[in-house]
Amino acid sequence: MMDYEKIREGVRLLLEGIGEDVDREGLRETPDRIARMCAEIYGGLYEDPGEHLKKQFTVERNDMVIEKDITFYSTCEHHLLPFYGKAHIGYIPDGKVAGLSKLARTVDGFARRPQIQEKMTRDIANALEKHLKPRGVIVMLEAEHTCMTMRGIKKPGSRTVTIVALGAFEDNMELQNRFLDMVRNA
Ligand code: ZN
Repeated sequence: MMDYEKIREGVRLLLEGIGEDVDREGLRETPDRIARMCAEIYGGLYEDPGEHLKKQFTVERNDMVIEKDITFYSTCEHHLLPFYGKAHIGYIPDGKVAGLSKLARTVDGFARRPQIQEKMTRDIANALEKHLKPRGVIVMLEAEHTCMTMRGIKKPGSRTVTIVALGAFEDNMELQNRFLDMVRNA
């Protein structure tokens, strides 16, 4: 469980550290506000997002399934600043598909934790592989990292793209390109 008192104390120390007056009106409730916000934006640490994939449907044909443009918000573990963007998921079923809204819920559960984008991409792909046991799965994340746009090298609009391809997608450029084509154009 989250230790809200520790979070409140930590935020107070941070504000003192930057030279702020923690007792001024605008900041007085900030430590508590942030503690409550942590429950939401880091709540994914306390769930197994793969659970959403246990609800499955049988299919006759194993055509590629693509769910694209799933909006997500996460936090970079190096700066505790947001990175956010779109997740695109493709998989080739092996007799079973997941409910479409469940893919979005899985992405959301993995997003709500401090991490790097590469790990989030891999976690989503691994969860699909584990629960759906598809013939192949590919996950692509495109995100803007505010630690790169509001500080540091300050390149607004630059996006970080990560891809993990497993099973039939691994080392199969033709399949990967078919997925990328659907994500970009369809
Ligand atoms: Zn960062």
